[in-house]
Amino acid sequence: MIEDKNNRTELNELGEFGLIEYLTKNIELKHTSTIKGVGDDAAIIGEGEKVRVVTTDMLLEGVHFDLSYVPLKHLGYKAVVCNLSDVYAMNAVAEQITVSIALSNRFSLEAVEELYAGIYLACEKYNVDLVGGDTTSSLSGLVISITAIGTGKKETISYRSGAKNNDLICVTGDLGAAYLGLQILEREKKVFMDNPNIQPDLGGHDYLLERQLKPEARKDVINMLAGMKIVPTSMIDISDGLSSELIHLCRNSEVGCNVYDEKLPMDTSVIQTARDFNLDPSVCALNGGEDYELLFTVDMSEHEKLKNNPDITIIGHITEAEGGMNIITRDGRQHELTAQGWNALLKKDD
Ligand code: ADP
Ligand code: MG
Repeated sequence: MIEDKNNRTELNELGEFGLIEYLTKNIELKHTSTIKGVGDDAAIIGEGEKVRVVTTDMLLEGVHFDLSYVPLKHLGYKAVVCNLSDVYAMNAVAEQITVSIALSNRFSLEAVEELYAGIYLACEKYNVDLVGGDTTSSLSGLVISITAIGTGKKETISYRSGAKNNDLICVTGDLGAAYLGLQILEREKKVFMDNPNIQPDLGGHDYLLERQLKPEARKDVINMLAGMKIVPTSMIDISDGLSSELIHLCRNSEVGCNVYDEKLPMDTSVIQTARDFNLDPSVCALNGGEDYELLFTVDMSEHEKLKNNPDITIIGHITEAEGGMNIITRDGRQHELTAQGWNALLKKDD
């Protein structure tokens, strides 16, 4: 038990990850069909060669999204994509989703239809079937909970725990854009709240806004890796920020890492806009959430196959655990990675 003199422990003392660990640490798995339970991007279930992948995520109005600037269609699309991303992060293919929603009478049929237009659009794009869900009422805002189910081959599933010394650390796409998209939306919302006569100025930020409002999951990369016969030794999707995910991956694999600031993939608009906001672009890439890119490790021998791939950047390598988890800055200095990733339980009281 956690000690507390008033016999009450505040949840933000544990944080989101501490709470999950506390609640699940005594689970004893009863079935041999539970190949991987809590602790990865998705659970892995099955008996034979082909396994099922299951993952679930919940989005709450006011915590994960703000309907004053997020269109419902985009919200539906993004809610599906962030679930599918966890399936791909296991090196598996998504096939089905279930969608549960809680609605208040503030929503019209037309509004819910918009939400579902986004959900169906994502189902088309990612080739998944909507196979069920639940509908209920809410007293305080919209809640969307989605479960995604996928399949993979048992021997090519990538866990968070498989990284080994000298593996190359790779990320897909570029980082930091979704976070800066959010900063722009929040800024324009504040301007509008202060003076409703001023129209939002969102011009010139198409890429950043798209990355925030309509992210994509990297199904293409999973297919590409399969085509190249590369099985990542470990993998995780980047939902909370690169630093936070690197720490998960290293802790689960019991290794350390050295990643290089100068290698972090960033779009030019990220560098420009970060400076406009007086932010360090690298900090946005390391700690900004919601990129839904993949972070994975591969054996050193895959270097030739990956080095000139436009979708993949090698940002560093895995070390022995004793080396710690480090970012090496452009001037050669080494800093320990810290997770300032998105953390709903802490954020509320920040
Ligand atoms: P992700 O960011 O990839 O969606 P999370 O950080 O949400 O992963 O969850 C980490 C792990 O903890 C996952 O395996 C997830 O299934 C599990 N988990 C999260 N919340 C709970 C809970 N309330 N009870 C049991 N397991 C949970
Ligand atoms: Mg994940």
